[in-house]
Amino acid sequence: MELKDLYRDVILDHNRQPRNFGRLDPADATADGHNPLCGDRLTVSLRLTGDKITDIRFEGKGCAISTASASLMSEAVKGRDRGAVHELFNHIHALLTQTNAPVDESLGKLAALSGVREFPSRVKCASLCWHTLNAALAQGGTISTEGGNESSSEVLR
Ligand code: ZN
Repeated sequence: MELKDLYRDVILDHNRQPRNFGRLDPADATADGHNPLCGDRLTVSLRLTGDKITDIRFEGKGCAISTASASLMSEAVKGRDRGAVHELFNHIHALLTQTNAPVDESLGKLAALSGVREFPSRVKCASLCWHTLNAALAQGGTISTEGGNESSSEVLR
């Protein structure tokens, strides 16, 4: 399948039917993410057993790319421990931001996110959920892709 078709099909599918949508209550860790450039907002909540993510939900309002990316992420990280999630985060970050990075087949459906590279203004839409997950695993709080006036916000690149 062409990567372009994969991108379109996967993004459409996960936007229409987001997996793991909602909020865990109680949760062991939560964080909010905001991308002011597009208006995407999401909350990621986690259940952790030791270092392992045993459950994850996300909710919020965002564009198709941010919703689909969060849905894909939730499927990919469930059952993984912090180390594996960190590795995957670095992998996805490279996939989204390095135009010449090869697309690794082992990423499965996540490889579809590489289609975002053709739309640089949407990279933050796709990476928002990953930064939010990192924040939840770190200490919770609120992250913003643009910094600004949100309390305890962290500027992302
Ligand atoms: Zn967006």
